[in-house]
Amino acid sequence: MECKTCGVGDKVEIAAKITGRDAAEITRCSRLECGHAWHVAIPTIDTGLPLEVAEPARCTCGEIATVNGLLVEGRLHAALGKDLTEDVYRRWLEQVLQALDGIPAEIGAPSLIHSATLAAKSQTTGMSEKTSDLNKLLGRAIKAVS
Ligand SMILES: [Zn+2]
Ligand SMILES: [Zn+2]
Repeated sequence: MECKTCGVGDKVEIAAKITGRDAAEITRCSRLECGHAWHVAIPTIDTGLPLEVAEPARCTCGEIATVNGLLVEGRLHAALGKDLTEDVYRRWLEQVLQALDGIPAEIGAPSLIHSATLAAKSQTTGMSEKTSDLNKLLGRAIKAVS
């Protein structure tokens, strides 16, 4: 779907969750690759009237807000490339490690915090590669809590 914050182009959905349901509609939380998430209301009954699709609303799910915010920041860092400063990166990394600690990985996979620590410590990758590795882990974390 198109992200109202990023604007241009379709964004891949990392995960989705039904967050609300009543007689007339369900609310679906779409978590996008850019780190933004939107609530879309989908009518459950066919009224025979032309479908009135409500505008997506900003996600208010507490449990993913932190991880989503960090992914948004991580995307900005990745876009900066070589202009990303060590200072900004370190501050972000610290928050990422805190946020990933305790979020379970897929069954059989090493824990997210373990993978993140390894990625951050790697001697062979630069800051921008580390940022994109960590963004991938944040994506997995979003999936895990969805
Ligand atoms: Zn977005
Ligand atoms: Zn949500």
